Amino acid sequence: MFSISESFKFLDSDLINWKLVLGLLSTGKYVFDTYLKYRQYEVLQQKSIPASIKAEIDPNDFEKSTDYNIAKLKLSVFNNTYYLFQRLFTIRTNIFYSLWQTTGLLMSRAIPFLPQFMKGTITHSLFFYTTISLISEIIDLPFSYYREFVVEEKFGFNKQTIGLWLRDHIVGFALNTVIVNGVLSGLLKVFEIYGESFIVYATGFLFAVSLAFFSLSPFIGRLFHKYTPLQDENLKHQIENLASKLNFPKTNIFVIDGSSRSSHSNAYFVGLPWYKEIVIFDTLIEKQTTEGVVAVLGHELGHWKLNHIPKLMLIQLLDFTQIFGLFGVFINNKSLYSSFGFTESQPAIVGLVLYWIIKEPISSATRFVTNIFSRKFECQADEFAKNLGYQDDLSKSLLKLHISSSSVTSTVWLYSAYYNGHPLLSERLSGLGYISKEKISRETKSKPLKED
Ligand SMILES: [Zn+2]
Repeated sequence: MFSISESFKFLDSDLINWKLVLGLLSTGKYVFDTYLKYRQYEVLQQKSIPASIKAEIDPNDFEKSTDYNIAKLKLSVFNNTYYLFQRLFTIRTNIFYSLWQTTGLLMSRAIPFLPQFMKGTITHSLFFYTTISLISEIIDLPFSYYREFVVEEKFGFNKQTIGLWLRDHIVGFALNTVIVNGVLSGLLKVFEIYGESFIVYATGFLFAVSLAFFSLSPFIGRLFHKYTPLQDENLKHQIENLASKLNFPKTNIFVIDGSSRSSHSNAYFVGLPWYKEIVIFDTLIEKQTTEGVVAVLGHELGHWKLNHIPKLMLIQLLDFTQIFGLFGVFINNKSLYSSFGFTESQPAIVGLVLYWIIKEPISSATRFVTNIFSRKFECQADEFAKNLGYQDDLSKSLLKLHISSSSVTSTVWLYSAYYNGHPLLSERLSGLGYISKEKISRETKSKPLKED
């Protein structure tokens, strides 16, 4: 029978310096990311408005947008540089091994008090992983603080208090720990039971989990936001008309308090076979005309009508297959484990952590591919809204959204292909065939155009 680890036996060799390999891969990824950011920085520095949207953008808004994006870029390069050094430190030292030993020791003390099913390697693995993620969470706090309360604050986007920010971090971390531990224990069990043939089962398991989360998304959203049924009767009526025209099943329309965190705005729908809801950020309603909000929903429901969700799920399924297929190459690679101090035992969780570092260049490549699909779907949804007659309203909505969130900038194509799941504003406007008739700025609440 075909066995992945047998076929890649040559990778299980003491001649391979795995520490060097992981260090080089991490550094290579950093150099690539930073190069893209530097190219983008150069373009932003020029501060020239792309010709295609010159007529629509107020130069002051463009200037603000550019400054905001430069500030974000600098912060992310600083973050990444810090994380690279941290990564190289963890690779250089046998810190994973020390952590594995320490958590094992602590667990052995607790064993008499644990129920039978919690005495094995899986509990130890979860304990190990939770410790790593707790440390990362704490290290990340100052960066997150700076992002929200210095950068976002400076440009007027931060609307949250420190209390709320801290609460979101704590709730987020707690929720994440419960979820990740649940998923990990399932995966580790699959590795344990199925041995070499885990790939199909692990893929199936993770796919089932992601379907379950997708189903639970209305509940998860409510942990972070306050939902209120849409009050504006006129807007509600127009959205219901749009939904019934598209045969979108009867649905609840909610407004959420996006403004409690940030002034960035959005709208989306939840489309489960048995439950649908449309969710609109209060900031969107605040900034857009009724026609503008309806046009945005025309685009969103286009995603539903064109079956983009099942298609994205299929892409995810392929991605999981690729992830676990490749993990099959490393899960039993003794030379990899022993390079990091694990000479006697090879815990799968450690294999998974090391594998995650090895596969980063592949993740980058997959990112280019998934972005191609996601941009294609965005263009199709725009086209759909255009065919419904929202060409003008959607164009103005998009302009307004991009201007008010300061995301109108010039971009290097390679940077854009890597970082943007959405097409650029100029690309979307030309796709919509928008013809500029007025200048839109953050101050003007754009009115529907009079026929002339
Ligand atoms: Zn979209």
